[in-house]
Amino acid sequence: MDIGFIGLGEMGAAMVANILKAGHQVRVWNRSPERAQALAASGARIVATPAEAFAGDAVFSMLADDAALREVVTASLLEHAPRGLIHVNMATISVALAEELATAHASRGVDYVAAPVLGRPDVAAAGKLTIVAGGPAEAIDRVQPVFDAIGQKTWRIGSLPQQANVIKVAANFMLGAAVETLGEAAALVSGHGLAIQDFLDVITSGIFPGPVYAGYGKMIADNRYEPALFKARLGLKDLRLALAAADAVTTPLPIASVVRDSLIDAIAHGDGEKDFAVLGQVAARRAGR
Ligand code: NAP
Repeated sequence: MDIGFIGLGEMGAAMVANILKAGHQVRVWNRSPERAQALAASGARIVATPAEAFAGDAVFSMLADDAALREVVTASLLEHAPRGLIHVNMATISVALAEELATAHASRGVDYVAAPVLGRPDVAAAGKLTIVAGGPAEAIDRVQPVFDAIGQKTWRIGSLPQQANVIKVAANFMLGAAVETLGEAAALVSGHGLAIQDFLDVITSGIFPGPVYAGYGKMIADNRYEPALFKARLGLKDLRLALAAADAVTTPLPIASVVRDSLIDAIAHGDGEKDFAVLGQVAARRAGR
């Protein structure tokens, strides 16, 4: 396929590398141009404006948040996009903005697919993301070859793009709850003089297997939160998205409020660029350590 790709952060850069490897042509744009240079060596064509990426068969975006998407995907950009183009947004954005974008794109003859992903940059680099796709079935069919280059499975949720975002924010709420409790439990065991890694070995080999407890647990046990794979400031964004989505359907999420406050605590201590696992440090600090 001939695609554009906007947003070459930790996730976007890893995804583009795999799309190029699968033989697709990719025009890339990033706000900070230096991030595009490394991909040019692998065959990506660097373009100077987002509008040049909004061409070909489809354009993919992997920007940080709602504000970034609003800044880049303007009404004028959509106005000048070729009719029949598909925009696949893979970033974690609000359910409300996804709904708004679906309407704005449809009114200008551009298909909008929401395809948020589960998996950190190491999973993206391995081409093993879990993709949750919502939008017109025909549009998803057409971009499936690109999904196959970056993911291990695409879950099709239905024709309403925003429903894919609901699943993504619900999943990241659960991730936050898991890392929060992991951090608190680690503070508990270390307070009693036990090694956190010994505790992790017990729980991950038995009742809590899987990448979340093992991966984030190791960072907490090592007390090492850099380099960040998933930044705490993006985690806070996601907890806020979950709370907003819950508020829209009058659903209390008390645990999400706790995790949000712990992330605010981390950011207030200057740790927003550290990994989400820094929740372990917040729990230790609360315990006076
Ligand atoms: P990141 O490394 O911080 O990259 C963010 C990207 O957004 C960069 O390309 C950045 O450009 C761009 N950006 C930010 N503000 C912008 C603005 N106002 N205008 C234009 N571009 C802007 O983040 P990431 O980890 O790749 O995450 C990207 C998305 O994927 C987020 O929605 C995140 O929640 C989601 N996600 C992340 C993970 C993970 O584990 N990291 C997993 C699943 C989903 P510059 O290079 O110029 O700063």
